[in-house]
This record gives sequence, C-alpha cells and structure tokens, in this order.
Amino acid sequence: MYGYDLSADEIMCKNMELAIVPLASIEQHGTHLPVATDWYIAMALGKKVAELSGGFLVPALPISTCREHMGKKGSVWMDHDIYYNMLKSILLSLKEQGFGKALLLQCHGGIFMAGPLVRQMNATCNPDFMVAFIDICNVFSLLYEKGIAETSTELHAGEIETSLMLHIAPETVNMAVAEDFVPEVPRAYLNYGSIFRASPTGVWGEPTKAAAEKGKAMLEFAARYAIEESERIFDYISRKEKIGYSDF
Ligand SMILES: [Zn+2]
Repeated sequence: MYGYDLSADEIMCKNMELAIVPLASIEQHGTHLPVATDWYIAMALGKKVAELSGGFLVPALPISTCREHMGKKGSVWMDHDIYYNMLKSILLSLKEQGFGKALLLQCHGGIFMAGPLVRQMNATCNPDFMVAFIDICNVFSLLYEKGIAETSTELHAGEIETSLMLHIAPETVNMAVAEDFVPEVPRAYLNYGSIFRASPTGVWGEPTKAAAEKGKAMLEFAARYAIEESERIFDYISRKEKIGYSDF
C-alpha cells in the first residue's frame, strides 16, 4: 500500500513527515519506447523510494515541460512558468498540511526550472519545510561509474531508460526497432533546436545495450541513492543556523 492508497484518516494517524513527489513527462522516446516512458519510470522509482522510506507517495505528475521534443506527435507539454507555479502550489499544499519534508524525484531531464523552484522554496520555507531534489540525469553518470550501465552516452531512450522499461513495463518496449544514436552536438544544443535535429530517431544513447536485469539493478540503485542523498540534504538544511534575517 502506497501513501495514495490510504485514506486521509490513515495518513493523519501515521503522521507522515516526508512527501515523495515524482516528476515525469509525456514525450517521444524514439521508435522503441512509449511516450509515457518517463511516467512509468517515475511511478516505479517513487514506489521503491516509498517502500524504503515509508514516506507519503504522491502519484507521479505525468506532464511537464518538453518543448525540445517537438517534431512528431505525442509529446505533451506546458509552458515553464505555468509548471513552476503549479509545482510551487503543490509543494505549498503539502506544507500547509504539516509535511515537513518533500522529496522531488525528477525523471525527465528537461525540467530546468525545478532547481530555481527548490531554491525559492527552501529560501522562504526553511526550517519548517525542506525540499530535496534528485535529478535522474545525475544518476545516469553514477550508474556508469558503478559499472551498472555499460555506456556513458545516455541522455534519452538509451541503455538506461530502455533497461528500466524492460524491467518495469516490457510489454511496451519493441527492441526489434531499437537503434543506437549518439549526436555530435552537446546537450545544451537542445536550446537551439528540437532533438530531431540532433538525432533523426529521437534517441540519444545506446538502447541496443539494454537488458531487463540491468534495469532492475538500476532502479534499486537509483532508489537507494535518492534516499541516502535526500537524508544528507535534509540533515544539511536542519543544521543551518540563522544568518542575519535568513534561515536559508
Ligand atoms: Zn525519458
């Protein structure tokens, strides 16, 4: 049973302190993965983190900002300012109900305003309410360093996301049409044109190296990392002393 399966009275009784908010996107993921890939991953990661931490799991928010994936049908986005204000409002609703901590699990690399929002929330709400932020793109490089992923080229629909999907929702993956593609331009070039200008298939990485077993290990590692890192972040925030007028 996850937090969202409980009644409001049960949630009151458990007096949960931590709210887990996974963030996803509905966007093209090459020819071999569904547009809901990030949402599947966000739900699975959120559930694992909730199992290990006992926190209140909010269902993963499916839609965010992914304008860089425009060019084919099926990607759904909103403007950055609308998303910023929506997420801020959601976090404040958790604070108002007495949650002391929120953990954002960002499972789509393109939510660039999450960082500024986390700063704003902590600057205005500490110490009563603390927000920790885990970006799955940082986990990608750790998976490579630890040898759990074979490739260091993952940005989108490559070895890591495809392995995760082979573990979480194999019926949605079509490996017969998976093709590797590593663009020649750096990631920042997504500011200057759609991903399809950098990669004709919309893949950025090496999905042919994917395997379900790897996906299982990746999910386990990502969940444990999210919990350990968020504990370090909450501990860091808790130990701060007031500087002048500021708790930030
Ligand atoms: Zn993705």
